[in-house]
Amino acid sequence: MKIKYFMCCQLVAAFFLISCSASRKEILDPVNITENVTGLNYRGSYPKLTDIIHTRLDISFNWDSAYVLGIATIEAKPYFYPSDNLVLDANGFKINSVSLKVKEEKTPLRYTYDGKKLTIKLNKIYTRDQKYLVYIDYVAMPYKLKAGTDIYSEGNRGIYFINKDGKDKTKPRQIWTQGETECNSSWFPTINDPQEKMTQEINLTVADEFVTLSNGSLEYTSMNGDGTRTDSWRQELPHSTYLTMLAVGNFKITRDKWREKEVNYYTEPAFASTAKLVFGKTPEMIEFFSKKLGVDYPWEKYSQIVVRDFVSGAMENTSATVLFDKLNLTEGEYLDENYEDIISHELFHHWFGDLVTAESWANLPLNESFATYGEYLWEEYKYGRETADVKGLEDMLAYLSGSRQKQVDVIRYNYADKEQMFDEVTYQKGGRILHMLRKTVGDEAFFKGLTIYLTRNAYKTAEIADLRMAMEEVSGLDLNWFFNQWFLASGHPLLTIKTGYDFEKKLATINIQQTQNLSTIPLYRIPMFVDIYVNGKVDRKEIVLDKQNQNFSFSYLSQPDLINVDAEKSVLSVKTETKLLSQNVFHYKNGPLFMDRFEALLALQPQKSELFARQIFMSALADSNSTIRQLALGFINNLQPDEKLSVYNQIREMALKDPVSLVRAAAVTVLSKLYADKQNDDVFEKTSKDKAPSVIKATLGARR
Ligand SMILES: [Zn+2]
Repeated sequence: MKIKYFMCCQLVAAFFLISCSASRKEILDPVNITENVTGLNYRGSYPKLTDIIHTRLDISFNWDSAYVLGIATIEAKPYFYPSDNLVLDANGFKINSVSLKVKEEKTPLRYTYDGKKLTIKLNKIYTRDQKYLVYIDYVAMPYKLKAGTDIYSEGNRGIYFINKDGKDKTKPRQIWTQGETECNSSWFPTINDPQEKMTQEINLTVADEFVTLSNGSLEYTSMNGDGTRTDSWRQELPHSTYLTMLAVGNFKITRDKWREKEVNYYTEPAFASTAKLVFGKTPEMIEFFSKKLGVDYPWEKYSQIVVRDFVSGAMENTSATVLFDKLNLTEGEYLDENYEDIISHELFHHWFGDLVTAESWANLPLNESFATYGEYLWEEYKYGRETADVKGLEDMLAYLSGSRQKQVDVIRYNYADKEQMFDEVTYQKGGRILHMLRKTVGDEAFFKGLTIYLTRNAYKTAEIADLRMAMEEVSGLDLNWFFNQWFLASGHPLLTIKTGYDFEKKLATINIQQTQNLSTIPLYRIPMFVDIYVNGKVDRKEIVLDKQNQNFSFSYLSQPDLINVDAEKSVLSVKTETKLLSQNVFHYKNGPLFMDRFEALLALQPQKSELFARQIFMSALADSNSTIRQLALGFINNLQPDEKLSVYNQIREMALKDPVSLVRAAAVTVLSKLYADKQNDDVFEKTSKDKAPSVIKATLGARR
């Protein structure tokens, strides 16, 4: 699931400005909220009493009352211990009948129902080798469930009827579902447990004007002769019950293909013309992830559907991802935001989440950290590391900003409610930890380890130790220390770094202190690279930080221009490092990564009274990275009058010609605010006709 959506550069820019206008300590001091108390509220995996093998649903809808009229035929067996009981989750149903089905014959079964749990007494005690078939005729009434009591919140209704009476002229009529976490039992009887994996068949009867979508393949369609049609969807591969979905509405299907498998995009007809633009990279993404992971996309097809009023950003229902209506994009809007991160996130879940599923909500990072890291991997492959590292920075900042309010373990067995697992610790911190794991064991071991993890646990569930053991098996290394400090603890390192040169001993020196509160946060073991720039060459050294206060030194006959600690810029931490102006200038000019230039600009900002610092910001207007160009535009106000004048024409050109629309928009704003005494109307005349809404909006603001 993709819950929150951070506008990329805004967060980076906000962090940049905050960091520059206040002392770093004040901003980034950690706040410790709760201590982890194992034993209290322990939330492990659920006991598996019954195994559902297959669920068949025959479903139609009463739009007026927003009811689901269903018949569920469930094939099940005891998981291990013999039992004559079947307990199903069924939230707010009317149960019409429950029977045992043997061939076509139905025998009524006794049951009790308390509005949440349907407890069925079977005709005898079954062993784990004996399957049975239960037939349940029911009505689900999702809108009678009260948020706060029957369900956690409005987002947990399970199934939604949009514009059910058709009176709202601004919206199409739609039905769609959202199962995660335990909400699918609001529309069909099942077992709410990610460990419960089943195959399924869903026969949907709808008015013939509607299109339907569900998991798996559309097996057949039959006209019923009364204006309705029944679509039969079947998924032959087992998946968790929270991943079952359906959608109904007036959608246009744009068809695409990956190898021999169907890939398609369901949009409102008005947005069919941009469906290929928005979703068209999907086959390339499937190919890339299949190859990178060493496991081909396993599901029958891949559909993406854009619905109205969705309760989250998107949801990775197996082979049928639902996305919120911000993906209803015009060509112009696509220039400002292409939502490829959401598209890659949900697709990556089809390996991490759908194929191998976290066995409990406490282990949710096995789904969400990976999906978040999938966004990075796609950007790295498609657009290069520069672009991906901007996303890595955004994730780190999202986590750090959230960590000021709360610090919890990534894998946590003591959450108050499972919905609270969906936070920046599970997503962004977890994604950054996976990146560090990759840097720690190396690319080859990391991706081989993922292949083992996915293959070994395919169509099953996993907990965090399964990932560790796969990585240990490949690399031959013990990785308990890594998983313990990052996945099973809270917080992050606060590093105070001092670098220098001892002229007498001819030593380049590094002192690093870990200043986090060690009563609640680990003392970290951090292997990292240090790049030492000396005599026009770069020397890469590997160090292992594992003490609270640690010194490292390396022999050099002359003083290095720069000692670049954490040269891969992968360590999730808050670093405080004081460097000379000349070192910061050198860092910006010579650091190979986006993060080098970002860190250099961050350090140069407080040195803005120095000409050399301002010159770097002026040259950053032409940086190859659009995030850096935006930061440089944000600096213009700090220039001297003659300097400001000297970049005026460059900023006019940026407003007109920068390839990235958000940079053009930022340039327009800079022209209007900081060059108001100039004649900019000819620029604004042109930018008012830009294709990107952000530029048009900035121009409107400029002319006001
Ligand atoms: Zn997700």
